[in-house]
Amino acid sequence: MSSADTASAKSKDRRQGRPKNAIDIEGVTQRFGSFQALDTVDLVIPDGQFLSVLGPSGCGKSTLMRAVAGLVPPTTGTVRIAGEIVERPHPDVGIVFQKATLLPWRSVVDNIALQLEMRGKAIDGYRGRLKELIELTGLVGFEKALPHQLSGGMQQRVALCRALIHDPQILLMDEPFGALDAMTRETMNLELQRVWLESRKTVMFITHSISEAVFLSDRIVVMSKRPGRVATMIDVDLPRPRDYSMVGDPAFVEATTSIRQCFDAVGMTE
Ligand code: ADP
Ligand code: MG
Repeated sequence: MSSADTASAKSKDRRQGRPKNAIDIEGVTQRFGSFQALDTVDLVIPDGQFLSVLGPSGCGKSTLMRAVAGLVPPTTGTVRIAGEIVERPHPDVGIVFQKATLLPWRSVVDNIALQLEMRGKAIDGYRGRLKELIELTGLVGFEKALPHQLSGGMQQRVALCRALIHDPQILLMDEPFGALDAMTRETMNLELQRVWLESRKTVMFITHSISEAVFLSDRIVVMSKRPGRVATMIDVDLPRPRDYSMVGDPAFVEATTSIRQCFDAVGMTE
């Protein structure tokens, strides 16, 4: 068996018994007073898919993610996770925001462990997984470091580990690498790809970078400007693992171009 076959068999194995749709967003609107942030968003994310939500700032991406996360209930419509209506944060979800929001007095390991403490789980059962995540995200040697001793990219890696330590099936990421410099961002994208290929979690990834969305995703949802709605969806059919040498390939260029055209068509280019 080739390594690709092994990987695919492994991911199929992991997915057995899971509901077909990880996330179901049905007719979600969001109003803040008289302001309408989201207009009838319908979106289904199948189990194991890496989906990016792409759109200009202010179009309601974070609002949509907060509804999926169970942090802010939508004005109308429903969100389901694994078939259950979301009314509060779901235990099978991990979240990464743009800012790492680490506790400054806690070490790397203790910041990651916070996720377990908040869920009333003892860290002892998770030591192996903790080690694995630290290796996977390149934090070996920094276990005892404090956040101020880490670069922005490393802090975001800690946030990623914190979102993954309880092994959630769904990962919600809201512009997680938006504050990083371009080079670090590419490294983080490669690492995220590695984590995703290993685990085949369902990922809802929010970004306003077209190339980042194409690089990472199986499918991209482009949102229109206020009020936010789904403008178009694009499947990204590039082989994995992807690397940055593929950015100039015709298929990559074609995907970014068609998204750019969609942005232009609805007057979204900022
Ligand atoms: P994005 O993440 O795409 O940049 P947001 O989802 O943060 O956009 O915001 C969409 C719109 O909704 C913005 O105009 C924002 O000001 C508004 N908004 C978001 N949250 C609130 C809130 N709690 N109260 C009032 N307006 C809000
Ligand atoms: Mg946002």
